[in-house]
Amino acid sequence: MTRPPLSSLDGADYDVIVIGAGAVGCASARQLAGRGFRTLLVDRGDIGAGTSSRSSRMLYSGLGYLAARYPLWQMPFRPADMIRRLLYTRDVMHCRAELVRDMPGHLTKHRFHYPFRKGDRYPPWLVDLGFRLVEALDGWRVPLAYRRLAPQQAADESALAAALGGPLRGVGVFEEYMYAWPERICVDTALDAERRGATIRTYAEVTGIAGEGGDWQVTLDERAPEAQGQARVRARMVVNAAGPWIDRVPGGGTGRRRVIGIKGVNVMVRLPQAFRGQGLEAFSRKGEPYYVFPWRDFHFIGPTETEVTENPDDIRVEQAEIDYILAEANHLFPDLRLTRADVQHCWCGVRPTSTRDGQMTSLPVEVAEDTDRPGLLAVTGSTIMLHRHAARKVARAVEKRLGRRGPAPEGVIPAPQTHDEGIGQMAAREHVVRLADLIRRRLPDGLDPDLGRSRAEELSHIATASLNWTDARRQDELRHFVEDTARVYRQP
Ligand SMILES: Cc1cc2nc3c(=O)[nH]c(=O)nc-3n(C[C@H](O)[C@H](O)[C@H](O)COP(=O)(O)OP(=O)(O)OC[C@H]3O[C@@H](n4cnc5c(N)ncnc54)[C@H](O)[C@@H]3O)c2cc1C
Repeated sequence: MTRPPLSSLDGADYDVIVIGAGAVGCASARQLAGRGFRTLLVDRGDIGAGTSSRSSRMLYSGLGYLAARYPLWQMPFRPADMIRRLLYTRDVMHCRAELVRDMPGHLTKHRFHYPFRKGDRYPPWLVDLGFRLVEALDGWRVPLAYRRLAPQQAADESALAAALGGPLRGVGVFEEYMYAWPERICVDTALDAERRGATIRTYAEVTGIAGEGGDWQVTLDERAPEAQGQARVRARMVVNAAGPWIDRVPGGGTGRRRVIGIKGVNVMVRLPQAFRGQGLEAFSRKGEPYYVFPWRDFHFIGPTETEVTENPDDIRVEQAEIDYILAEANHLFPDLRLTRADVQHCWCGVRPTSTRDGQMTSLPVEVAEDTDRPGLLAVTGSTIMLHRHAARKVARAVEKRLGRRGPAPEGVIPAPQTHDEGIGQMAAREHVVRLADLIRRRLPDGLDPDLGRSRAEELSHIATASLNWTDARRQDELRHFVEDTARVYRQP
């Protein structure tokens, strides 16, 4: 199938243009198209290839959001903050329940552990209370099944708990979900938006946004290989959902910094087979949340949290970050003695954290409309977990300006059915432009231990037949896939 030239969009007119096909942009396009708005979703690369493919892949329970970073004794003196945290945690738990209900094929359920030690910042009774409160805030729709066990009892039940270094006061055990494949959440959401009437154009970079007679004119530049061109499209409103790049979209800025980037690194290792499928939530010695996430036969550990100002395109995993993560793992599990040689690969991303008055505010999802530039919205602060919540906020802000057109879309988004004989059709139907799009974000191969390398040659032939590539293009795509995999997933 041949991709239409970008110029086919030139002069097109929409109600809303959504910039960025990450989790938030895809869900926003779905909400808007479902409510009857003529919607264009664009990304300078592939669907779900930005931050949404660099996360820790976890559908958090809300406990971390309840936990304030100031000393416990200050809590009664900050009632407004506590109420904000409770409301936010309730939203988080609603989103958790919604994803468990509507995307069951995209999630896997796991047993997680929370170690208690003497001198912890949060005493066991408070953590017990926190877990119960978090469950109650959601009306027990997706229970966490939290229990606090004595160290020996926990060790008898689980090899991971048995391997924890002492002295332990107890171990909390609860159920958490991981996204089986976050990139596919984005792709399936975008395809559902398309079914509801949205137009999708990937590899189209927004290079300008200018006001025009009360509307907005958006300039798009072609970024797909072997293609060129430009299009100018018009819309009543623009939703800037470019994640950590929000302040870098040309013409989309306001001079005010809307996101603070928090870099996070995760490290994939093979832990003992008896740990398979089990995870850990703890605090590092720096006092930062620290996790061991189960991932198929492996585990990954992290993330770090570092504020960054450079372009998220330029950030890479540093050796010191890998060493820090391994040192913390060895502190928690002294017998593991992990070294760099145990690391399969690692990756990093930048969280688009909202700002308020120039300061980082980690809690709310913000949908802000600049008073000087009416109709230009920016959405910040959403996790993958909250992407539907963020999208509903976007849709309400659009309705406020353009009026209500139709009901909000509901319902299950189907998990992908990928049979080998259908890969060619999938490549043609699902906006695949590059081989890496097919391997990493349409098929599950890209998250295999070999990161999809072993099937790359075979899949390149299928893509070639389906997308009418020449053999020279196929070779280029293979080279690009190898280089891009090495860029995204560092091997120490
Ligand atoms: C280390 C780490 C761990 C995390 N762990 C979790 C977790 O466990 N669970 C969870 O729910 N969340 C987690 N998050 C948060 C989550 O990954 C992000 O908040 C979320 O993916 C942001 O989605 P987004 O759609 O806003 O941004 P993105 O996914 O980054 O999408 C923005 C898109 O905008 C596009 N774009 C940028 N500029 C332009 C332009 N000029 N023209 C066109 N397109 C453009 C980009 O190509 C990109 O695809 C984690 C984040 C990090 C960094």
